[in-house]
Amino acid sequence: MFGVVPRNLWLRVCPPDDQNRIRMNLNCVFIDTGAERILIETGIGDKWSPKHSEMYGIDRKQPLRESLRSITGCGPEDITIVINTHLHFDHAGGNTVRNEAGEIVPAFPNARYFISRAEFEHAENPTERDRASYLADNWQSVKESGQLELKDADYEVVPGLRMETYAGHNRTMQCWRLDGNGQTIFGFADLVPMRAHIQLPWIMGYDLFPLETLEAKKRLLPQAAREGWMCVFYHDPDVPLCKLVEDNGKIRAEI
Ligand SMILES: [Zn+2]
Repeated sequence: MFGVVPRNLWLRVCPPDDQNRIRMNLNCVFIDTGAERILIETGIGDKWSPKHSEMYGIDRKQPLRESLRSITGCGPEDITIVINTHLHFDHAGGNTVRNEAGEIVPAFPNARYFISRAEFEHAENPTERDRASYLADNWQSVKESGQLELKDADYEVVPGLRMETYAGHNRTMQCWRLDGNGQTIFGFADLVPMRAHIQLPWIMGYDLFPLETLEAKKRLLPQAAREGWMCVFYHDPDVPLCKLVEDNGKIRAEI
């Protein structure tokens, strides 16, 4: 998760377990506009074999379906728009579920699923380097049911909510921004997956274009601090949402 950062440095921030795994969340976002009930990202899903669940250490204490119900009162049938910032399995895994017959079907039967056309095309033709991150089970049935809507690199989901493509993690991942009442909430997706990645050289080893991640961070993070954005860190296990401050030329989370 930290690319070229030495283990001795990152283990102080994210202590690994005996299998070298660190704690990570999958912080999905729910937005109710009155007309639309929008879900941004769907987590890792529950189609995993016991072997893979064990390997990734997937903790089922707060499955998406249950937290959605307990926090928002909505069931899967109430969601009208699902957005994936990109189609890696830890962001799109909950797009689909297995039904009682064991078939894989869309998890949100009444939703339109929005994904950038470029990311979709990349997901269907990944490179050897990122192939393991793309599992067609997470979008195939959505495509077949007619619920998939392919979008531009930058587009407006509903007034105030925009998706914007930032290169780095790959060349087609999108971040999202929600503007309203003079406040911006910005979802960094995997550009800045955890608070630890606010530091400029802390860039994931998974990134296909790490220097482009760096450039995007250098542009966005000072702006986020200056303009007081609430920042959403999709994988942060402790503080998914916070503002940033600039301290002697260095940006850090304000907690
Ligand atoms: Zn991710």
